[in-house]
Amino acid sequence: MTGLGRRGKYGLIHTDRGDTLVFHLGMSGKWRIDPQDLLPHDHLLIETEEGTRLALNDPRRFGSVDLVPTDEVEEWGPVGELGPEPTQLDPEWLRERLRGRSAPIKTLLLDQRIVAGLGNIYVCEALHRARIGPRRAAGRLSRDSIGRLVAAIGEVIAEAVEAGGSTLRDFARPDGELGYFSKRFAVYDREGRACACGGKVRRIVQGGRSTFYCPKCQR
Ligand SMILES: [Zn+2]
Repeated sequence: MTGLGRRGKYGLIHTDRGDTLVFHLGMSGKWRIDPQDLLPHDHLLIETEEGTRLALNDPRRFGSVDLVPTDEVEEWGPVGELGPEPTQLDPEWLRERLRGRSAPIKTLLLDQRIVAGLGNIYVCEALHRARIGPRRAAGRLSRDSIGRLVAAIGEVIAEAVEAGGSTLRDFARPDGELGYFSKRFAVYDREGRACACGGKVRRIVQGGRSTFYCPKCQR
């Protein structure tokens, strides 16, 4: 192992053989570091030269592991199709990308080809912070709205990283503790509760995923 990286929701483990292990944890996968014993759902075991063992445990098997030549990773399969990282989004680029699209902005923000690695929680929170209704047609957002949206995405991600990651039922940091960002959600998973503006958070389903938003302050 010569280094670690990440692209979107793919983790990268570089080796000195010129190959990179590209993994996706799916919904429930996690690495167990120096496990005492192997468990039923440990699908892959890696041992480094220093003797550290890493077991990839994934009870639901939604994850993936591929070995790819390191100099081809950026163009490889699903990684090659990824849009920019959320922290490197350029408002003008995004505006160009959304031009003419009639799909709801919420749905397109979950498309990894437009923004890489932005999950449902962050999309809901960023749209709320930018005061943009999730059903708005993406191609009809003003330059001003897109500017607010890109800023909001950057802020939400930065705060989540600062707080130690988000939390879902199965989410755990490598030390097993849950992340803390959940305590700061403004709309996510808060259906029927009060928004800071005095409105009431509503839940709808878009593209098979829950959207939480405030109809009063998001237009
Ligand atoms: Zn509100």
